[in-house]
Amino acid sequence: MGLFSKEAPCDGCRIPFEKKALHGFDPAWRRHRKSDDPRRRLCTPCLSAALSEYLAAFPFRAAVVEPAREKNAYVFGPLDKSRPRLWNWGSDEFREQVRALMPDPGAVCALCGGAASYTWCGTEAFIENDEGVFLAERGTFAEEPRCGKCVASAVDASFRELGMALAEVSPPADADGLLISQDV
Ligand SMILES: [Zn+2]
Ligand SMILES: [Zn+2]
Repeated sequence: MGLFSKEAPCDGCRIPFEKKALHGFDPAWRRHRKSDDPRRRLCTPCLSAALSEYLAAFPFRAAVVEPAREKNAYVFGPLDKSRPRLWNWGSDEFREQVRALMPDPGAVCALCGGAASYTWCGTEAFIENDEGVFLAERGTFAEEPRCGKCVASAVDASFRELGMALAEVSPPADADGLLISQDV
C-alpha cells in the first residue's frame, strides 16, 4: 500500500479495502456538531457496528428513513440544534411534520416489543422537488415504531443491499431529529 494506492485499511477492523468501498463515518458531521469521536473510514460491517452503538445509546427520539439508492450520504439533522449549513429544515411547518413522526412516549418496537424511540419510515416518506423536501401524506408510506437495535439491523440490511459506499454517515446525537439520505 503506497501513497497512491487504491487500497486503504478500514479504521475499524484494519482490513484493507478499495478506498471507494469505504464509507465516511463522521459523528461531528464536518464539525457542524460537537463530538470527541473522530471521523473515520469504515467498511460496511464496521459502519453498521458504529452506527448501531449510536442508535442504541441515543437518549432522544428520531424518525429514521430507510436509506435510498440515489443519495451519497446518510445524516442526522437535529430539530433543535440544526445549523443552516448542516441541513436546511425549510419551514417551521416541515419541522412540525417531522416532530409529528416521532414515536409516542411509551411506544413499543413493532418487531421485538422493546421500548421504541424511533419511527422507521419507508423511502417514500419524503418528497423532494424544486421547492424543497416535504413530508408525504401520512398513510401513503410505511411507518412503525422501532427500538434502536431493530433500526440498526434494518439500516445494516439496506447498506448491504445498496452495495455502495456513502461519502458521509453521521449518527443521531444532540436532540430529537431526522436521519435521512441526502446528497452532499
Ligand atoms: Zn472494518
Ligand atoms: Zn426492536
